[in-house]
Amino acid sequence: MTDFTARLRQAFGDERVRRDVPLAPFTTFKLGGPADWLLEVRGAEELHRALELAVEAHVPVTVLGGGSNVLVADAGVRGLVIRMRGRTVQLATPTLVRADAGLAINGLVRWTILHGLAGLEAWAGTPGTVGGAVFGNAHFRGRLISELVEAVRLFTPSGELMEVPAIEMGFDYDYSRLQQTREIAVSADFRVSSGEPAALREIARESLAFRKRTQPLESASAGCVFQNPDPARDRVPEGIPPSAGALVDRAGLKDAREGGARVSPAHANFIVNDGGASARDIRALIDRCKRTVKERFGVELREEIVSLGFGGESRNTW
Ligand SMILES: Cc1cc2nc3c(=O)[nH]c(=O)nc-3n(C[C@H](O)[C@H](O)[C@H](O)COP(=O)(O)OP(=O)(O)OC[C@H]3O[C@@H](n4cnc5c(N)ncnc54)[C@H](O)[C@@H]3O)c2cc1C
Repeated sequence: MTDFTARLRQAFGDERVRRDVPLAPFTTFKLGGPADWLLEVRGAEELHRALELAVEAHVPVTVLGGGSNVLVADAGVRGLVIRMRGRTVQLATPTLVRADAGLAINGLVRWTILHGLAGLEAWAGTPGTVGGAVFGNAHFRGRLISELVEAVRLFTPSGELMEVPAIEMGFDYDYSRLQQTREIAVSADFRVSSGEPAALREIARESLAFRKRTQPLESASAGCVFQNPDPARDRVPEGIPPSAGALVDRAGLKDAREGGARVSPAHANFIVNDGGASARDIRALIDRCKRTVKERFGVELREEIVSLGFGGESRNTW
């Protein structure tokens, strides 16, 4: 594999290709082991080049955005981890904003407000990047980010750059087709209309205040761990609100601990790293929540967070 390192370094320069890099600082959980190789790419061309080299060398690829929805194994992630760092945002047409996959959602929100463009302001405070939000179809207070997406530019595993209309992205609750196809988003187009910056800022402020009231933002976490039950397939017992947090709470698991992992007393669908948690602690607590909720209420909790490096295939490892 020294050959792969050499080829990557030839393409991107010595300093940009890093070996055995701990991933904890690149995740909001602040835990997890190293990537064999870590490379930050700034746009479609760089991404393409890195993918070509990895495919040629048979090195698996894992994409990371803001690391706000992942649990990285203590043993780390084998192969090349690519962090998306492109940050270009522009008005593609008077009603469409094109944003790089590596741009933070917060950066996108700030940019649109500054330019008097309405649509994204309520997403203020959503951690992570445009690419991560598209991958998992980020949701907030009953809205899905896909409601604003017009199209996504992406790389297919065969290296083709495609523009895919939103209707073909398979968007659903916590789902986009990227989770199956292993395509990598390069940028997304969002629908906007004109708005008054002061009014938009007020909506953004209200979203931030809502998050502050309802989420344990002072602790390291990856947001909600479990998807909410699906009314079509899950039968939540009467008297319990149909949310994963309510099920974990009613199962008596608020404040439950495994090592340094803890179910947040403020929001039972958040597991926090209470200082020094390992990925193994988090996984043990996740499994305990699933087991207990299944035993008590017969509901199978599904994970919203993406586990990387635990063996088996992650949803988007090449
Ligand atoms: C405090 C807190 C609050 C949160 N609140 C919310 C919330 O209100 N609503 C919500 O939906 N989520 C929430 N989350 C979860 C998280 O912010 C979102 O899921 C976010 O969209 C993840 O984006 P990311 O860039 O951090 O993705 P990452 O965590 O880096 O990656 C998540 C998955 O997306 C894949 N991915 C990332 N970029 C790309 C790309 N360009 N192409 C293909 N795949 C890609 C990764 O490989 C991985 O499988 C919260 C998290 C925290 C910590």
